[in-house]
Amino acid sequence: MIGQVKIIGGGLAGCEAALFLSDHGVPVTLYEMRPACSTEVHATGDLAELVCSNSLKSTDPNTASGLLKEEMRLLKSHLLEIAEACRVPAGSALAVDRKQFSELIGQRVTTASIRLVREEYTQLDSEDFRRTAVMICTGPATSERFMRTLSRFMSTTELFFFDAVAPVVDSETIDFSCAFEADRYKEEEGGAYVNLPLDEELYGRFYRALIEAEKIAVPDFERKYLFDRCQPIEEIARGGYDALRYGPMKPIGLIDPKTNREPYAAIQLRQENAAKNLYNLVGFQTRLKWNEQKRLLRLIPALREVEIVRYGVMHRNTYLNTPKLFDAHLESKTRPNLFVAGQMSGMEGYMESAVSGLVVAGQVLRRIQGKPLLDYPIETMVGALIAYITQADPLRPMYANFGILPPVKGKKKEIRSLKSGRALRAMEAFLSE
Ligand SMILES: Cc1cc2nc3c(=O)[nH]c(=O)nc-3n(C[C@H](O)[C@H](O)[C@H](O)COP(=O)(O)OP(=O)(O)OC[C@H]3O[C@@H](n4cnc5c(N)ncnc54)[C@H](O)[C@@H]3O)c2cc1C
Repeated sequence: MIGQVKIIGGGLAGCEAALFLSDHGVPVTLYEMRPACSTEVHATGDLAELVCSNSLKSTDPNTASGLLKEEMRLLKSHLLEIAEACRVPAGSALAVDRKQFSELIGQRVTTASIRLVREEYTQLDSEDFRRTAVMICTGPATSERFMRTLSRFMSTTELFFFDAVAPVVDSETIDFSCAFEADRYKEEEGGAYVNLPLDEELYGRFYRALIEAEKIAVPDFERKYLFDRCQPIEEIARGGYDALRYGPMKPIGLIDPKTNREPYAAIQLRQENAAKNLYNLVGFQTRLKWNEQKRLLRLIPALREVEIVRYGVMHRNTYLNTPKLFDAHLESKTRPNLFVAGQMSGMEGYMESAVSGLVVAGQVLRRIQGKPLLDYPIETMVGALIAYITQADPLRPMYANFGILPPVKGKKKEIRSLKSGRALRAMEAFLSE
């Protein structure tokens, strides 16, 4: 019988989970390896350190991040409440004083009488799981020793990824009248790929904009590993004017039904999920700054109004192959009582990581109480995110966006508010049951 919980990692997911379980009287031990053993992305020994931006994104419920926050409010998130207490001005975004944010979380963890152990957790023992549930919340910079332990313990190599992700776009914002469906070298109409043709003039403009676009600097330790395996488009473009036309934008074998011939160049979109509401840009992994990615893609007629739901990134990012290793409740398929949350589960973003900690802690509590685990409604942002990270193939870390929510009927302008209203009603009904 499970009676206590070990949480490994005192970041966003781990702290939110520990505070929830402590509220319910569950004995929790929280392991945090910093400051003694730091990572390449953290700068302090603080709990729940925000490693980059101090913005937790929008609070407007008609945005995906705002909706997520409203759901977190309903779920009684400690981290959201603390973030609001140390808010700094940032328009409709919830930005925080990062030092104060971490300090308040640290204080709450201490007063909640959570046992905080400042050491690197390196061992997993089958015996532990008889009376203890374990939550892996070690984040994108999980220690290498723990990764090796996990790999042995779960008898898998599905554990270690570098993140080289092409942008993913919301299908509702693509103008399909400027595109054609076709597979390369197939004569019949239709196909699995959506192709965006470019003529010579547009290709020239796109190429120049790409060459001039601002990039994010590449740390040396990442450059070698990443670029050996997989070139970002801006690096390919540096190879010469035609490099893209012979690479990720090659038109060969793609016949545009409007002209009956191959275009000068083409961008291919591939379905990202079964619901067909997300598409990724094939071969377009990039380190361009996010506003530059949007500016560049909007040069393409079919993408004039495109919404990017997941920007291209290339950085070290440790996460597990959740769909293979964990079930719909984020519990290991082979090791009962071993759970995962936060970025390690494929959730990307501060608030997404925190909410996954909250949800998984809720499942652990139910296990302790001998109750069945819960399925969150797919109409909610929380439910849609969990469904995505437990089903996607291949899994790419995902943050809150409207594209992963099931479609809703309505005028284009109203889609977001309709999805948002439906999500909050579904969450309220779910919590009242
Ligand atoms: C470089 C980078 C920049 C990012 N920028 C943003 C951003 O601007 N906005 C945004 O919303 N998201 C951002 N993210 C995304 C990400 O979701 C956040 O980093 C988020 O903090 C993840 O939360 P987490 O709880 O999963 O991990 P973390 O907050 O990183 O917490 C994990 C904790 O586990 C500890 N740990 C690791 N291994 C062990 C071990 N073996 N034993 C004990 N402790 C251990 C770590 O020290 C850390 O404190 C970024 C990610 C990266 C890699």
